[in-house]
Amino acid sequence: MSQASWGNYSPPFPQLYAETIQFDEDELYHNWHSKILYNKVILGKAIKSGTPPEPFKNCYDWECKYCRYNLVCQTLARTSTTEMSEEQIEEDKKLWN
Ligand code: SF4
Repeated sequence: MSQASWGNYSPPFPQLYAETIQFDEDELYHNWHSKILYNKVILGKAIKSGTPPEPFKNCYDWECKYCRYNLVCQTLARTSTTEMSEEQIEEDKKLWN
């Protein structure tokens, strides 16, 4: 969908278009149980351990494609297979917290 289809924000009278999206009970249930609660568990483990979740593992491809943190995750994915010094690990933890 092109951005123009969401409205025309130019002055003096910006226009915003809205859509109504409907989901049935099964779709809501599936999304809640298979995605939202799963992500909650992943986030809880990451917070408890102080280690960020493994990049690109717990999300859809399209989420990563348009994510502003993609470069950070690419870097983390590369370094996870590389030995890091204790100093680097501590610095990384400071950046993440
Ligand atoms: S690129 Fe974004 S969506 Fe993908 S794993 Fe990293 S933070 Fe998550």
